Amino acid sequence: MQPLGRSPWRRTPGRNRGNGTIGAVLAYRHAFHAGNHADVLKHLVLVQLLAHLNEKDKGWRYVDTHAGAGGYSLAGSYAQKHREYEAGIGRLVQRDAAASALPQAVQRYVDLVRHFDAARSASAGTAADAGSNAGQGDDEGDDEGEGKGEGEGKPARPPRRLQRLQPQHPLRQYPGSPAIAAAFKRPQDQLRLFELHPTEHKILAGYLGSDSGCEVRLADGYAALRSVLPPPTRRGLVLIDPPYELKTDYARALGALREALTRFPEGIVMVWLPQVQLVEAAQLPQRLKASAEAQARKGWLHARLSVAEGDARGFGLLGSSVFVANPPHTLHGTLQPVLPWLARELAQFDGAKGYVERSASA
Ligand code: SAM
Repeated sequence: MQPLGRSPWRRTPGRNRGNGTIGAVLAYRHAFHAGNHADVLKHLVLVQLLAHLNEKDKGWRYVDTHAGAGGYSLAGSYAQKHREYEAGIGRLVQRDAAASALPQAVQRYVDLVRHFDAARSASAGTAADAGSNAGQGDDEGDDEGEGKGEGEGKPARPPRRLQRLQPQHPLRQYPGSPAIAAAFKRPQDQLRLFELHPTEHKILAGYLGSDSGCEVRLADGYAALRSVLPPPTRRGLVLIDPPYELKTDYARALGALREALTRFPEGIVMVWLPQVQLVEAAQLPQRLKASAEAQARKGWLHARLSVAEGDARGFGLLGSSVFVANPPHTLHGTLQPVLPWLARELAQFDGAKGYVERSASA
């Protein structure tokens, strides 16, 4: 286990490191990681949760405490730097293109990604890139260039009812969590999206900021949580998806889950967490479970996907987990066969594994 210090796994260039919280926020860009195995797990579960909310007509509120830019170019220099998506969504899309049968939950997620890609790639060619973290120069600090052109590529969102799409070209665009929520949003639903990085916020605001029922705020998502809970309809979903660039994110993510469940004990609260060689990361699942046991009306579910070995120093993202408080009762049955399947498909070493566990009350 790593002692206290900076997170040992992020590979985002660290131009701004050493400036405390703001420096860490500015250093992290999700475009480097978009579509990797961790995004696959997180977004696949997110799709299931949003589909569950849409089973009833009553409106829901989606709260994203760490929203990111909303969508990402896989052809841009950030994503191309380490091509993490190739061992994530890239493998699933290849499987799909080869007409292999995908588990239903995986198919639903892949179809949504394909629709986002098709809509966004078609919307304005290179302008689509400009609005999705791909208009940047090769210098990772080129924030000004990155913001240019946003809005020009404002894409049509994927339709809510998805049919299979034939692959026309390699995947170029990947949806972030706000785009996935927007794909499910009906007129009666609301999105509350928080993002602290000025450039990511600007891109996200250009994409979704003017949509009815949608608010995009340049704000600390942890602190803002109390202002948007509980939803007026008492139906909703909170996604807590920090970068974990700072060790304080582990305690703050736990605090956010507690805060969300205090204000909204029946609400669905989802936390993404990294699997890394760090004491805080190892302890977080147990802490989340204990809090949810005490506060969540319908228990918890924990899905874990381990796909990679660390390097010689123990650095690297070995896998990730998704923790869900108050999961839909069908989620465990849906995910149980999917996690071992994903582990086989996304494996980067022989010991890959995936499993789902839940509380007795879930
Ligand atoms: N949820 C996004 C998705 O799935 O597409 C990815 C989010 S990314 C892992 C984390 C984001 O949180 C980054 O864009 C970062 O700038 C932002 N961030 C970091 N600290 C924050 C805070 N305290 N409040 C709001 N956003 C924050």
